[in-house]
Amino acid sequence: MALPYKVATLIYCFNHADEVLLLERAQEPNRGLWSPFGGKLHQAEGESPHACAVREAREEAGLVLTPADLHLTGVVSESGYEGQAHWLMFLFEVLPRIERVPPPDREGRFAFVPRERLGALPLPATDRDQIWPLFWAHRRGYFAAHCTCHVDGSAAWEILECRPSLPGPGSPETPSEEGGGVVAVDGPASPMIDRVSDEFFMGEALRQATRAQAADEVPIGCVVTRNGRVIARAANQVELLKDATAHAEMLAISQAQQVVGDWRLNDCTLYVTKEPCPMCAGAIVHARFQRVVFGAHDPKGGAAGGALNLLQFPTLNHRCVVTPGVREHECRQMLRSFFQEQRAKRQPKP
Ligand SMILES: [Zn+2]
Repeated sequence: MALPYKVATLIYCFNHADEVLLLERAQEPNRGLWSPFGGKLHQAEGESPHACAVREAREEAGLVLTPADLHLTGVVSESGYEGQAHWLMFLFEVLPRIERVPPPDREGRFAFVPRERLGALPLPATDRDQIWPLFWAHRRGYFAAHCTCHVDGSAAWEILECRPSLPGPGSPETPSEEGGGVVAVDGPASPMIDRVSDEFFMGEALRQATRAQAADEVPIGCVVTRNGRVIARAANQVELLKDATAHAEMLAISQAQQVVGDWRLNDCTLYVTKEPCPMCAGAIVHARFQRVVFGAHDPKGGAAGGALNLLQFPTLNHRCVVTPGVREHECRQMLRSFFQEQRAKRQPKP
């Protein structure tokens, strides 16, 4: 579509308590909604995105910054936004901590907001559903995302490139439950959900389940992905290892942590052919998986919403995005035929 391309920066400032500086917008668009401040790039002057962010920080919030104070967290492009324009947005985090709340102006009023209170504020829908989850998942890292806006108002998001969030000094990932201090409350996030790759990776988990079946184990398989690649794969090995904790998920989580070199897997997705049990769901929350995708539901023992929901337990400090029922028929069929065979083996021969 032949539309103008508009270029803007968004600026994410934090104070020492790691609260983010937001502007309650007094002007359209987004009047009455809270968002980071920022503004349009001076294209006629050939301004760079960094120079634009430095200028906007000075004009809107009275901050004196240099480009070295900025980290480019993400680039978001939107084609055909509201049928009016294409947008290119540069999201910058200001690395020095800011304590002073800028005075209100014609753009609106400022406030520092803790991350866990963001969900209670009126936010633009795209910010809430897409941009905030992307920002938190890649803070101090990097992402590039593109949104194709359709005329019917729907939109398709894809991540084109990403590097995970890096823990920085005072970043929300540094302190944890064992260290005390600030506890980052994750979610409810809604990362991009891509049906085609979910089915593909569930196929990889099903291959692991087939391996378990061939070894006379309960056929459950699991893979862990990061940035669109499988980094760990495991089959259930309870019988082989004579270990009741050797569920496919537990083995895959340990492998993934070794690959990543960290116990935090907050940019990873876990695919498993059956809804995780309470033990595995507990381990998944401890490892802070961003997303869990499972095949067969388990209404009696499942801990991802079947019998209970540990993956999204309100008082725990991490919650996962859950996608249930991917290739459910194949996953359930594999379990069903295994248990039928087991029962047949136990029947006395006539
Ligand atoms: Zn389990």
